[in-house]
Amino acid sequence: MPRRRITLLALGGLAAGALAAGAPSSTAAGVPAQEKVPLAVGTGGAVATVDPDATRVGLEVLADGGNAADAAVAAAAALGVTEPYSAGIGGGGFFVYYDAASATVTTIDGRETAPLAMGAGAFLDDAGNPLPFDEAVQSGLSVGTPGTPRTWARALEQFGTLSLPDALRGAIRLADEGFVVDETFRQQTADNEAKFRRFQPTAELFLPDGALPEVGSVFRNPDLARTYELLAAKGVDAFYTGELAGDVVATVQDPPEAPGTAEVRPGLLTEEDLARYDAPFREPTRVEYRGLEVYGMAPPSSGGSTVGEALNILERFGLESMPDVPGLHSYLEASALAFADRNAYVGDPAYVQVPLAELLSEEYAAERACALDPATAQDKPTGAGSPDGEYGPCPVPDQPTVGEGAEGPSTTHLTVGDAAGNIASYTLTIEQTGGSGITVPGRGFILNNELTDFTFAAADPTRPEPNLPAPGKRPRSSMSPTIVLREGEPVLALGSPGGSTIITTVLQTLLNRIDGGMNLAQAIAAPRASQRNAPTTDAEPAFIDAYGAALGALGHEFRSVAEIGAATGIEYLPDGRVLAAAEAVRRGGGSAAVVHTPPGGPGAPAPDDPGLAPDLGDDREPAAPE
Ligand code: GLU
Repeated sequence: MPRRRITLLALGGLAAGALAAGAPSSTAAGVPAQEKVPLAVGTGGAVATVDPDATRVGLEVLADGGNAADAAVAAAAALGVTEPYSAGIGGGGFFVYYDAASATVTTIDGRETAPLAMGAGAFLDDAGNPLPFDEAVQSGLSVGTPGTPRTWARALEQFGTLSLPDALRGAIRLADEGFVVDETFRQQTADNEAKFRRFQPTAELFLPDGALPEVGSVFRNPDLARTYELLAAKGVDAFYTGELAGDVVATVQDPPEAPGTAEVRPGLLTEEDLARYDAPFREPTRVEYRGLEVYGMAPPSSGGSTVGEALNILERFGLESMPDVPGLHSYLEASALAFADRNAYVGDPAYVQVPLAELLSEEYAAERACALDPATAQDKPTGAGSPDGEYGPCPVPDQPTVGEGAEGPSTTHLTVGDAAGNIASYTLTIEQTGGSGITVPGRGFILNNELTDFTFAAADPTRPEPNLPAPGKRPRSSMSPTIVLREGEPVLALGSPGGSTIITTVLQTLLNRIDGGMNLAQAIAAPRASQRNAPTTDAEPAFIDAYGAALGALGHEFRSVAEIGAATGIEYLPDGRVLAAAEAVRRGGGSAAVVHTPPGGPGAPAPDDPGLAPDLGDDREPAAPE
């Protein structure tokens, strides 16, 4: 998409001079409030998270000589303290890692698993109807075996240089000493207040003295500090087979409702489920886009396959030389096509034959591109394609449509790049903001509701549904931690929360950066739209203001949503500097930082310095759809 888009978009909040990690700006009870900075440029490595305390913890690890894996685990553990409603050891996630020494990308699948006792009808009522979503969320039933502790251990063992105790040290201190409550934390607590009041230990922890935490007050979580210390002392086996395992299972099977509140559905998790949990290494997905190698998360996430398929389709249209509106039209249409396939074909590969190689093949993209009419939006939902290895000329007959399934708007993504070029792109979650709402008593963390990412009932019982629950199965995810290389060398990495909008946020941000001439911070700040094979496209107000009329003339309809996603990313610039980028505004702003700021400190270069947006993609002749 064309460079001039930058001038059209409101890049609010990207203040000039915001180039270094912010210094503490105020104190409350001796605990410094960290400043939020959306763009930092310098050397020595970079960290971008949604939270300044977590970014600081990660940065300290890098500054002390730790690598990207060490810093990512340290920052993730810190997010368990400061973002406990989005992430923590009660949940799961996907860790994508570029190891500079071997020039390889590896992923760790830390997705939660269904209990062995969970069958396909687990989320149906006695009459066979899907449970109301909130009833399913706020229950023991929605809790899958957490994958995050195992992911941290595996990441450190395979890639890190620190021991688990060293990696957890910063988070333990943060949990003990506390962090300064900001508006985002207070608001997220307020949004969850009713849910939290249903569960005694959750209300006690997150509604201190029965009230919402005050902005500017210090929030401490000594229970979590002790839990992290237990993991530090005994390893994560304490979580999966030791004393913590018993606590988790007891809590899930008999949720600790507050006195006077209705009982929730108990869960099916057993000690056997925890003991057999593994967070396996998986091959990443890989596509080439304009000479760049784009790596993502393979199933059970649909992130890598859906972003990758859309990029393969879009490469055929030459977005880099298109004006804004046709470029955005192509983006929305390719996203709809890729989502149609995601919904029809992607699930846990141990249970479902996912045609991953076909979904990511150039030949299949050529066939799917037949449905992308540069002049008109297709009717949505559109049918899935046939990734069967046999591809003919256009047009291609329609296939039936499969529903999207429901995912929450929570989660967090952190991105770390170290001085050696190692990159961790790590998305972790407890699913909904506030997860199941159930805190393990005395342990300081909330349990996930990840199993509500399963499809409760097939939309069309005559068609295979890849995402129904099954014993031990992982629910399909949309998490899309992404790493981009060129000829095996690191270029950039990014990811976002946002349920199924994660995929479109990552895709749109990549297009903004690679084709739109924006630097990574601008690409993140630009207004977003999310087309997920639905009749209307979700879009932020600024997007609708800028493009709604012109895209409407092509047949697009928009539904206004306040915010989509909360991305973070890093980029290695050709001049040897590294750039960290986070949200300027969304979710209260994120936190980008580098280890060494340039001589002279914050000030230059300005956020719109072209040096921050070097050309990335090869120029190629766009291939016309066949
Ligand atoms: N559970 C979602 C997924 O795995 C993520 C939740 C969110 O980002 O809101 O895709």
